[in-house]
Parts: sequence; C-alpha cells; structure tokens
Amino acid sequence: MSMLEGNRECGIRHRFEVRHRDRAPNRHPAEMEQLIHWCQVFDHEGLAPVEGGASAGNLSFRTSAGFVITPTRSLLKSNLDWRAFVEVVRVDRRGFALHVLGEHAPSSDSFLHERLYALRPDVMAVFHGHDDLVLTHADALAREFPIAVTGEARLFGTLDDAEDTAREMGSAPYCIRKGHGFVSVGRTLSAAGELAVTIHRRAVEISKQA
Ligand SMILES: [Zn+2]
Repeated sequence: MSMLEGNRECGIRHRFEVRHRDRAPNRHPAEMEQLIHWCQVFDHEGLAPVEGGASAGNLSFRTSAGFVITPTRSLLKSNLDWRAFVEVVRVDRRGFALHVLGEHAPSSDSFLHERLYALRPDVMAVFHGHDDLVLTHADALAREFPIAVTGEARLFGTLDDAEDTAREMGSAPYCIRKGHGFVSVGRTLSAAGELAVTIHRRAVEISKQA
C-alpha cells in the first residue's frame, strides 16, 4: 500500500471557499503553545514531510467556537506564531465554505477535522500526517495497535473523503488513510501526538526487522 499520487502534495490547493470573519483567531495560549510544540515534533519525526514546498500534515484542537487548525501550505517547522493558526467557527458543507478567524486559509483537510469533532465528543485534538513506513506496514501495525484502516485509497479534501474517513475511523484513536497517511486523535493534544509518534517509531522498528 503506497501513496496515491494526488495525495502527495497535501494542501497544495484548497477547494472550498473561505470566509474571513476576523483577521486573528481567538487566543488560546496554552493549547496554541502545545499545538506549536506538536507541529515541531511532527516535523522533527518526519510525520509531516515537506512536499511541494509545504509540510504534509495538519493539526488541530477543539475550541468552544469550533477548532483551531494549522493553515494550508504551511511549514510546520518554522516557528509558527499563534496568529498563523486559523480558527474555523462555522462549516457550511452545502456551500462547501468555511467561516474562519485568522489571516490564512485553513488546512485543506479541515472538513475531516470538522467531521471528527462533530462525531466524536471525546476527541479534543486531531492530528494528520504522512508516514510512508506506516502505510507500508499497515497490516502489522493494525495487529498491535487499535488502528482503523480506510477501505480504499481516495483523493483527500473532498466532502466524501471527510465523511467516509470519519465513519471508517469509528471510535478508534488512530486511522490509516490508505494511499495517503494517518489520523491520530485524543482527549488531549499530547495523547494524539504521543500515539502518532509511538506508532511511527514502531513502524521504523518493523522496517528494520524486515
Ligand atoms: Zn495529507
């Protein structure tokens, strides 16, 4: 199982409309600091490789208004300032539009984040990354960890992909998106981040044994 070519440059384009209600997100100092930390960990561990000039990954946490997410076409290793994040405060699926607070456009995967927060009251953080080793060793990993695997490889960023991925993930804390990458969720940012790192490091071990 490898990467579907259209998913390679994650975030190279967002297909939805963005309505900026304000030019800055609400301030969530503690969570934003953690989000910056996990962006750097993802970059450092190779969970958001740079593809086409931007990091392939998107990370968010839930807020009372919606969720705060990394902007599309961003580099996660560059010291992200809290003002770089985007708070999605309304999701219009019929109009395929997102209402946001912030300077930038939110991640192209925002509709998946929205679905997961809507369907999973237990989830406070959603982290998505690209990890070729996890794709390669998906079956072995799924025997060791509570991992859901999507049924087919499909192009990301569509409403169908968001809907189907969230449904196929069920109540699992981690999902392998076939031909694409992974999603890790948790009750805290740390839980989502630590699980992603644990599974990545296990995939590295498995690949060395193979
Ligand atoms: Zn992706």
